Order: sequence, then structure tokens, then C-alpha cells
Amino acid sequence: MTRPAQALDLSHLWMPFTANRKFKQQPRLLAKAKGMYYTAVDGHEVLDATAGLWCVNAGHGRQEIIDAISKQTAQMDYAPSFQLGHEDSFRAASAVARLMPEGVDRIFFTNSGSESVDTALKIALAYHRARGEGQRTRLIGRERGYHGVGFGGISVGGISPNRKTFSSSLLPGVDHLPHTHDLSRNAHSRGQPAYGEHFADELERIVALHDASTIAAVIVEPLAGSTGVLVPPKGYLEKLRAITEKHGILLIFDEVITGFGRLGAKTASEFFGVTPDLLTLAKGISNASVPAGAVAVKREIHDTILAAAADGIEFFHGYTYSAHPLATAAMMATLEIYERDQLFERAKGLSPLFENEAHKLEDARHVIDVRNLGLVAGIELTPRPGAPGARAAEVFAKCFDQGVMVRYTGDIIAISPPLIIEEEQIRLIFQKIADILKTVE
Ligand code: PMP
Repeated sequence: MTRPAQALDLSHLWMPFTANRKFKQQPRLLAKAKGMYYTAVDGHEVLDATAGLWCVNAGHGRQEIIDAISKQTAQMDYAPSFQLGHEDSFRAASAVARLMPEGVDRIFFTNSGSESVDTALKIALAYHRARGEGQRTRLIGRERGYHGVGFGGISVGGISPNRKTFSSSLLPGVDHLPHTHDLSRNAHSRGQPAYGEHFADELERIVALHDASTIAAVIVEPLAGSTGVLVPPKGYLEKLRAITEKHGILLIFDEVITGFGRLGAKTASEFFGVTPDLLTLAKGISNASVPAGAVAVKREIHDTILAAAADGIEFFHGYTYSAHPLATAAMMATLEIYERDQLFERAKGLSPLFENEAHKLEDARHVIDVRNLGLVAGIELTPRPGAPGARAAEVFAKCFDQGVMVRYTGDIIAISPPLIIEEEQIRLIFQKIADILKTVE
């Protein structure tokens, strides 16, 4: 446990997605970060096995990013994002576009994953309207999907605690596909599970119910991260692509986690060989050094929306901080590091070892499933009777206190380290979890 060096007033801050009262009884506070490590306020070092929140893909404190941000803030701290521009916003868009699937290369900048998702949903509606199919307004998400916390994102998202408080205020006209996780058939899958392609057929059922002419878009995370690392079954994404294409429905991949190397490829789209119409991005786009996000859009969608307007504004949407100069500087420096250090290839090279080490936990106490792809793994535990989530919470706390930062959601532990991780560190992470599981009731 870490305590602040001196008395710190904890009363004012309302922490997001946190049990505030509980946290404040026993705060774990971070003070520094470099490379693969955080340093807590009490000075103890913690190996970052989660890349912050799945976002610090190039490791912490990269000097090139620090320099780029410092230089930019001295040169021009801010430029209005509407009606005016700055050169680096165009350069950064080109740099992002180079990493996107062929033809999905028109870039709209945001500041976060949530904003990227709501932006993508709005682009989908604007596109259909521009083509004279304005009745296509239905959106389809998926159970156990996480798409941030905007009203659009929680509406297409499939996590009940995020939705129930706002239930009657969610977007109308939203349906959900079933999630793809079937423990009875796919426990301990290495890579993509063999079973579950047919879950995509549910889309045909929804189309039959509402008619394709009312449906604008389907949004899924190609690999669902936040709800516990749900790896898509073989053939599933391909099928989803085929069905959406057949019915003129746009396919949005939420690549906020999977973009920028997490699976050992530029994007999950590249990894799976399935090209969506729009991709949402954030997190790794700037190595999390400055809040930044983007939507990558198929050229035809962009061109259609622009062509439908006269000389005025084509898309009434944007943020004060779209393409903020610090974000564009951070993004360009980050993308340069990924390329120069070949970090996506590095992640790919490390994946087999990562998979083997993760699956050594299959027989560990309480473990009912280990799943993985690229440099991401989920370890699912049986819940403690009467106290769901308590076991994984205990693993998290013990790991942290013993120098390894993991993440947990419900009773699933998620591992997603920076792509600069060394082989020894991969072994250490899974060994630490194995040791700690022996001590957890
Ligand atoms: N989409 C996905 C797939 C995510 O994982 C996240 C964040 N974990 C978001 C959207 C929301 O991103 P942000 O927290 O930056 O708004």
C-alpha cells in the first residue's frame, strides 16, 4: 500500500470508475513512470503489466515524445480547430492514415475513445443521410461491448452497470448482438477460439426484424478488452463483414485498445484481414502522453458527406481540442517511435512466449479460463461465493503491493503490457500471478 508523503486532502476529487470511499481508505498512488515501471509515492517500483489503461504502448517517459510536446507548447500552445488550422494537424492525419487499412484514410481528430465512438456513430448517420437513406438510423452494438461513456457509447455498449442508471435516456433504436464468449466450449483457447463464428448470424435475425433499410451501422471491438479480453472466434469478424456488406450496413471497429500494435499488427483490422468502414482510435495513438483520439473513415464515406453539402460546413461536429497542437506533436513522435523501434513486429515476436507463459496458469487455483491474443491475456477466476469480483480484486492488490500492476474487471484479470516488455518480465508477471493465486482464498 502506498501513502502520500504528506497529508493530502482526498475529499474534493471524485474519481472515475472507482469505489471512491473504499479507495480513499487505502489509496494506491503513483508518482513517476519510466520505461516498464511506475514508482508509487512510497518509492516502491511497480512493473506495468497493463500499459497504464491499455495505452502506453511504447513504454513510459519516452524522451522523443517529451521533447516534441515541450517544443510544441513553447512554439504554439493552441490553435483554434474550427475555420483555422495548423500544419501539424494535416501531418498528423497523414501519419495516422499510413497505419490504417487501405482506403480507410480520412482522419477526424478527437481527444478520447468515447469521443471517437460518438463521432463515428454520427458519421455513419451523416453518411446515410447524405446518400438519401436518412431512414437508416438504427445502431447495433454487442453485449459486453465497451465503447466509452458518451450517450452513444453506452447505448451501443453492452455493460449493464454503465447503462442502468440512464436506461430511459439511452439512444433509441439500438440493438445488441450476443457476445462471443462461451466458456463451456472455448475454455483455455490459445489465440482465436474455434467455436462461435455463428454468433455473427444473429445480425441476420436483427436485419430480418427491422429491415436493412433502417440500419445504419454495427459497432464492435474486434477483440473486446474492458469486459475481460474476449477474443473473436475464428471466422466471426469475416462473417460480420460479409453480412454488413450484403445489407449496406456500415461496420465500425472500435480499435481504441487494439490499434497501434496490441495484437502485433498496426490494427486488429490488419491482424484479422477484415476491413471495416470506420475505425475508432485513441490510447496508443499518442502513447497516452496527451489525450488524443481519432476516427479513420473510408474515403468514399468522407467524400459522400462532403459532396452532399454546398459550400458550407459539411459535418456539424468537432471539438475545441480536435488536433490540439500538443496532441499532434505527441502523436507524430509516438508513431515515429513505433516505426523506428519496430514495436508492432516486436509484439508479434513476443506473442508465442506470452501465450505460453499465460497458459501456464491454466491449472492454477481458482482459474477457469486463460485466453490470449497478441500481447493481451485474460485470466478468469471462479467468483468467491457471495462476493463476485473479490478474488480478482485481491490478486490485483497483492500484485501491486508486490511490484506488478495488473488490471481486473469482475473476476477476470487482464494483462496488456507495453510492447517494449522483455521476455524475463513476461515470465515474471505470470509467475507472480501464479504465486499470488496460491495465497488467495
Ligand atoms: N472504446 C474502447 C474499446 C475502449 O477500450 C475504451 C476505453 N477503455 C473506450 C472506447 C473509451 O475511451 P476513453 O476512456 O478514452 O473515452
